[in-house]
Amino acid sequence: MTFDEARQCVLREVPPRRGERDTAPVLSAAGRILAEDIFADRDYPPFNRSARDGFAVRAADVPGELPVTGEVRAGQVFTGQMSAKGAVEIMTGAPLPDGADAVVMVEHVERRDNRVAIARSIKSGDNFTPKGTEAKTGEIVLRAGHRIGFTETAVLAMVGRDQVQVFRQPRVAIIPTGDEIVEAGETPLPHQIRNSNAWSLAAQVRRAGGVPQILPIARDSYESTFASVKKGLESDLVLLSGGVSAGKYDIVEQVLADLGAKFFFTRVKIQPGQPLVFGVIGEKFFFGLPGNPASTMVTFELFARAAIERLAGSDHSMLPLLRARLTRDFRHKPGLTRFLPARLSEDGSTVEPTGWQGSGDIPSLARANAFLVAEADRESWQVGDDIRVLLK
Ligand code: AMP
Ligand code: MG
Repeated sequence: MTFDEARQCVLREVPPRRGERDTAPVLSAAGRILAEDIFADRDYPPFNRSARDGFAVRAADVPGELPVTGEVRAGQVFTGQMSAKGAVEIMTGAPLPDGADAVVMVEHVERRDNRVAIARSIKSGDNFTPKGTEAKTGEIVLRAGHRIGFTETAVLAMVGRDQVQVFRQPRVAIIPTGDEIVEAGETPLPHQIRNSNAWSLAAQVRRAGGVPQILPIARDSYESTFASVKKGLESDLVLLSGGVSAGKYDIVEQVLADLGAKFFFTRVKIQPGQPLVFGVIGEKFFFGLPGNPASTMVTFELFARAAIERLAGSDHSMLPLLRARLTRDFRHKPGLTRFLPARLSEDGSTVEPTGWQGSGDIPSLARANAFLVAEADRESWQVGDDIRVLLK
């Protein structure tokens, strides 16, 4: 499968899960997925709200010189009568007096004792937000399936919610594999490697809205891997790292097959990450991610993140690819979509590939702030050419 086909496959096969719910205080619900529709408890704005400091008038009365007949501040109501050919001094956020249909900005008037001279004309409706134009009482302002970010948190506070229903977070089992891998807290022998993948995956799972559950390192034996995957299937999703290549001791696929797996793909035309397995056992989805650290991290972002977001109840997964200008020539061998560590400038306008020693080079990934995305059907780019970029 190509990159796009594989991504579409994940989105197609993993439907947004609308299962169990939790009630969460609004503050700790940030990042989680709404499990209920949220309704406007009243009109927004609840009154004709001045958008400016200035003078409430009838648009038909200006240009002209008008007597100032009163004042209305935010948090107050003008109780007087808005006289024809009169102006009421008004502050931003204050309710427009009945009878007025526009606000003249204070910058556009000349004050003369208790009169204001207004030189320019104004249209009815200018500089105030009419009642109910942002939302009407009873209207849905947030839908179930929406991720709660800071703007959604503002909406929840706006309608007076302090608790909110969210979907239960999926539990994601993380299974590192490999005879050469030791736990990060151990001192490795010269030919051994510390387990970093389980930890980077845990961080990625958490960022995607899942609850990571790191299992002990599975060894490159059928029995060890089989037992780990069985245990992992108690979670909502299984992520395996390593053991999916063509090597003699790469037995993850065999174990998954024997556990009754249906495979959606076992290879994707990307680098890093070609041998990449996605499937389902019963109702539990799994990914067999290649063990090279860059492959594990990149393939998670490209495919597994979307699956976790959907299992968390989200109805859409973003994978925005920006465009930036290359600061140097770049070429690659077409046929695979490549994701390479890169540095994007602060304003996002230019990008530079950072050197690396290949997909085992963890420090280079930490130095990068993005991945340069080289399309499979193009061979070379020149300085100044646009290229796609995936943020880290
Ligand atoms: P594999 O996909 O099992 O062939 O592993 C590919 C490479 O990734 C090998 O160099 C492994 O040592 C390395 N690797 C596999 N698992 C991990 C892990 N959990 N942490 C760090 N490196 C790993
Ligand atoms: Mg291995």
